[in-house]
Amino acid sequence: MSFNTLGLRAELLRAIEDQGYTQPTPVQSQAIPIVLQGHDIMAGAQTGTGKTAGFTLPTLQKLSEHQSEGKRPLRALVLTPTRELAAQVHDNVRTYGKYLPLKTAVIFGGVSINPQIDKLRRGVDLLVATPGRLLDHASQKTVDLSKVEVLILDEADRMLDMGFIHDIRKVLALLPKQRQNLMFSATFSDDIKKLANSILRDPVEVAVAARNTASERVEQLVHPVDRVRKRELLSYLIGSGNWQQVLVFTRTKHGANRLSQQLMDDGISAAAIHGNKSQGARTRALKDFKSGQVRVLVATDIAARGLDIDQLPHVVNFELPNIPEDYVHRIGRTGRAGNEGIAISLVCIDEHKLLKDIERTIKRNIPQQVIEGYEPDPSIKAEPIQKKPQQRKGKPRAHSGQRGGGKPQTAQNRGHSKNRNNRRRAA
Ligand code: AMP
Repeated sequence: MSFNTLGLRAELLRAIEDQGYTQPTPVQSQAIPIVLQGHDIMAGAQTGTGKTAGFTLPTLQKLSEHQSEGKRPLRALVLTPTRELAAQVHDNVRTYGKYLPLKTAVIFGGVSINPQIDKLRRGVDLLVATPGRLLDHASQKTVDLSKVEVLILDEADRMLDMGFIHDIRKVLALLPKQRQNLMFSATFSDDIKKLANSILRDPVEVAVAARNTASERVEQLVHPVDRVRKRELLSYLIGSGNWQQVLVFTRTKHGANRLSQQLMDDGISAAAIHGNKSQGARTRALKDFKSGQVRVLVATDIAARGLDIDQLPHVVNFELPNIPEDYVHRIGRTGRAGNEGIAISLVCIDEHKLLKDIERTIKRNIPQQVIEGYEPDPSIKAEPIQKKPQQRKGKPRAHSGQRGGGKPQTAQNRGHSKNRNNRRRAA
């Protein structure tokens, strides 16, 4: 199928061509005509499927079909859970809308509100926003949502995970009743279905990848290892494999900070990205990682959500996530847009139950490979990790890969650990 058959105008087709896309992805070929016809949609699509263009292209087309004279009312609103995702969606909007005379803006917290107010005052056709900052603007009357024709909820499941349901409801109350609604979610919990039922009107369902099916292109591997040796093994894998760009997931913000510091102590450039970092620090870390200045980006699930990093060859689960679906999201960071990727999980004895849950969710067993020199010590007792999803937002847990490890090892003292000379990647 080609983009020409989807009913998009020439300016959009030209922008698509500039991007070098030859054909629509499945979510695009399904969603675009439905949105153009004016239907609500409920789309099950993860990051990496091309979903952003799936909603951006038809929305831009609709906005450009009839434009009012004078100051423009805000007609399309995209809500996203994170600042990074908001910025990326807006980048997409600008890319695809570059040949159209539409005005767009992005607003999120953590940065000065005044430039946003100026921009909104001048009139914007399409706005990408995180819920908190949008409500700040609404309460200051610096944004008028009463003329919104299209509402897009991107990564709705993550918005609920992050506790945005009340903010979403407040935003909905400010929108006109008569509007088109597009909802995108990677997963379909009961809460998501409830939200969809309350927002969407007779929606057409669009499902692209079977739910919770991990990408076939991504090679997945588990390295069993003791919890106190995870960091050492990670440094070894990065160094011996000469990995240049690695996204590493930890369960906690504290764990992300500590691991990135320890990697730097090992002489590996690293940065942490999580919700406690300022917006500037997060943007800088992502930029340095994308440009290759930083080799390892250590991230929590929420911070990593929606990061658009192309051709990411290595994703490492330093700790398995408590929620199996997060594993699917994490490994979705690699093997995107036709590139091969490998997703490695460092799994200690505490995490065996989490691993089983993940394997049940993705409906396959992940091959295991013990790395020589890092064989798990069978005398170590498991201290299984309790599943408490709300820990995402809570204090760091004692169960991190480094617990009980005493002084963190550095490149210098690491040489004293056992089997150093045997360390070789298993065949
Ligand atoms: P998304 O799921 O929206 O985050 O998009 C994932 C990646 O796919 C982004 O890097 C897009 O630039 C890219 N992409 C989107 N649509 C296409 C397409 N039709 N062909 C190839 N790549 C695409």
